[in-house]
Amino acid sequence: MQTEKTDVLVIGAGPSGTVAASLVKKNGLNAVIVEKQKFPRFVIGESLLPRCMVHLEDAGLLDVVKAQGFQEKFGAKFLKGDKMCDFNFQEQFTSEAWKWTWQVPRAQFDKALADETERKGVSVYYETGVVDVQMNGTDSLTTVEDINGNKRRIEAKFIIDSSGYGRVLPNLFDLNKPSNFPARKTLFAHVKDVKRPDNIDGNRITIVAHHTDVWIWVIPFSNGTTSLGFVGNNWFFEKFSGSPEKQFREMVEEVPHINERFRDVELVFEPRTIEGWSISVKQFHGDGYALTGNSSEFLDPVFSSGVTFATESGAVAAKLACRQIKGEKVDWEKEFAQHMKQGVDTFRSYVTGWYDGTLQDIFFSPKVDLNIKGQICSVLAGYVWDLNNPFVKKHSRVIGNLAHLVKLEAGAL
Ligand code: FAD
Repeated sequence: MQTEKTDVLVIGAGPSGTVAASLVKKNGLNAVIVEKQKFPRFVIGESLLPRCMVHLEDAGLLDVVKAQGFQEKFGAKFLKGDKMCDFNFQEQFTSEAWKWTWQVPRAQFDKALADETERKGVSVYYETGVVDVQMNGTDSLTTVEDINGNKRRIEAKFIIDSSGYGRVLPNLFDLNKPSNFPARKTLFAHVKDVKRPDNIDGNRITIVAHHTDVWIWVIPFSNGTTSLGFVGNNWFFEKFSGSPEKQFREMVEEVPHINERFRDVELVFEPRTIEGWSISVKQFHGDGYALTGNSSEFLDPVFSSGVTFATESGAVAAKLACRQIKGEKVDWEKEFAQHMKQGVDTFRSYVTGWYDGTLQDIFFSPKVDLNIKGQICSVLAGYVWDLNNPFVKKHSRVIGNLAHLVKLEAGAL
């Protein structure tokens, strides 16, 4: 069996893996990516947050994404009944934050990132999966197998596992930990958005709170199609039967905010289901490896934090791995695990608050002043490491207190 040597082996060519590998290269070391699928490939996760622009720029991947002409995203609009809450990334609390980002069909976005990463000198082996990993201190010997059954070995000084829903190292090293969120479900499709409104709202991402625990995403793309997805607990999905398309069309019909625009639209593909996405890990790193993106902890899609966590963790892990390989002592627990947990835990409070209704009370209250809205807006832009922001620093307490106040003022308590 052939053995190839590299500094860093990256598993998975999603945004986490390509940002990580590009940054390893930028830091003067070699990286190899093994990717199980052939690109372009479909993956869900189409609405980005401004914070991920920092990582794309740092990794030298921003220009290639710019060249794709994706739909620009300047904020997010939330609707519930006759109430509306509009977040504009221009009005953020966090200074020097990016004020915009993109809405991207991931097949095209991920391929652009992977091609550019390869162009920078990273070898990307497609249709190649990981079969076995043997750790020896921080060194590793990984056996990979391509689609034709050919096996070879990769010797690396560090492994970054960015395998997303594949969860290669959590599965091999028994690191999976259940999430404390209930298993939720989605039915989604891409549709030909021929009735897209001509005004500013037509191209904007909209989240419709249909019930407290059932919501809909509308993510328009620049190619004229739109991603439309229903998310919620089982009780909602149990109301519908028949083919995925029949169920999808009945759901569209049930929601007044979207039914006119999306009634009878042509579907780009048959609606798909994903369920039970929330998962955690016992540890974010070990000797010679780190888990990044969805291969570590994934919370929930409601605030579009997935890709941003993927790029943040990929970027941080790559830089730390390079420092370690160059001989520096790295405190992985403090510099990686605690850093990621700070961000994940902040979003955890917002996701919890969304599904128990406290955050929706805040979003849809006319009483919330602009300063507070700016602070929440920075969280929704992905700036969950800005400890000057009280809505980051004391996330759990502040949301609870504010929801209580808002209800008091509305005479609901
Ligand atoms: P991925 O993008 O999944 O990439 C991992 C790669 O690893 C894949 O290409 C895969 O083929 C490869 N791989 C897997 N196994 C192996 C193996 N054994 N060997 C080699 N390669 C392997 N996030 C957002 O930011 N915005 C959203 O709007 C959003 N919406 C979502 C909606 C839903 C319903 C769900 C469930 C998630 C959503 N997400 C969203 C989350 C988003 O999908 C992920 O967080 C994001 O794709 C993670 O990126 P990644 O690079 O970690 O993994």
